[in-house]
Amino acid sequence: MSQSSKIDGKSIAEGLRSQVGLAVSSLRNEYDYVPTLAVVLVGSDPASQVYVRSKHKFTRKAGMHSLEHKMPEDVDEDTLVDLIKTLNQDDSVDGILVQLPLPKGLNTNRIIGEISPSKDVDGLTEISAGRLVLGRAGLHPCTPEGCVILARNALAAQGEELSGKHCVILGRSILVGKPAAMLFLEQNCTITIAHSRTKDIEEVCRSADILVAAVGRPLMVKGDWIKKGAIIIDVGINRVPNKDINAKRDTKLVGDVDYDAARIHASAITPVPGGVGPMTIACLLRNTVIAACNRHGWHVPINL
Ligand code: NAP
Repeated sequence: MSQSSKIDGKSIAEGLRSQVGLAVSSLRNEYDYVPTLAVVLVGSDPASQVYVRSKHKFTRKAGMHSLEHKMPEDVDEDTLVDLIKTLNQDDSVDGILVQLPLPKGLNTNRIIGEISPSKDVDGLTEISAGRLVLGRAGLHPCTPEGCVILARNALAAQGEELSGKHCVILGRSILVGKPAAMLFLEQNCTITIAHSRTKDIEEVCRSADILVAAVGRPLMVKGDWIKKGAIIIDVGINRVPNKDINAKRDTKLVGDVDYDAARIHASAITPVPGGVGPMTIACLLRNTVIAACNRHGWHVPINL
């Protein structure tokens, strides 16, 4: 039986990061300017610490400045708001990202809402979300943007394009599902959003030319939920026990899709890890360059 091709998120992300690096060099040469990303990390959640380290590393590798602001778990909400206000006013800062999830007790909506929309490189403020729904230029959320790029790449390799494809999005979160639906719609896909109350979800999935899974349920999507030849974008990151007795670690990461079973039906599929994750960071770097250019009224260099 033929198997699908792997959508190599790592190498597609590497390509985008090197484009960002070229754009950064061009800004340095033309305007003597280096964009700056400020990341705010509250508390000591191990996964968040890993993500923030990675963002820091790749921001610097792309030639940009990276600022990290660490706050204790029990930080007072007003102190956090004051930090965001300071970063908003700091003209050397182009992008502000507050690592989510925030510790319990902090009002995420209030804190994200304080970020200046011009520096909202995570695309999560109400202004950014509104612009996305209205189809206006703005900073798009990074993970959904990465999903669109990966799907477009996979289709291009088959001599196809996004326009006219039926895209089923599993999950309706503000972070992934909803913005992904808007971004695929913007690409002229026909959209279905499925969630925990969707009836006959398997049949809905079987109608997808492109299936984006963002539910946070390990291996929920089975092989026979997938239409022959579909493109599968697996956003899920789930840590599960590792049953392989020879494995070095007793847990491993899996997606929302049963990868081995899905490969038999799909034409292309993202692995977990190594699929959507690396794209999220690459899109964050791209947004930082776009934010810097927009704030200064400069043309965005290179076709980012
Ligand atoms: P979330 O806020 O928990 O949302 C999950 C969505 O899935 C909800 O809309 C929920 O439906 C739906 N859902 C849950 N169980 C379902 C079921 N059995 N059947 C159908 N729908 C179901 O999660 P999220 O923030 O969107 O993240 C989703 C996954 O993506 C997680 O594994 C997360 O770790 C991962 N993620 C990865 C990246 C990356 O860079 N790769 C970035 C962000 C998130 P209801 O709305 O009806 O409850």
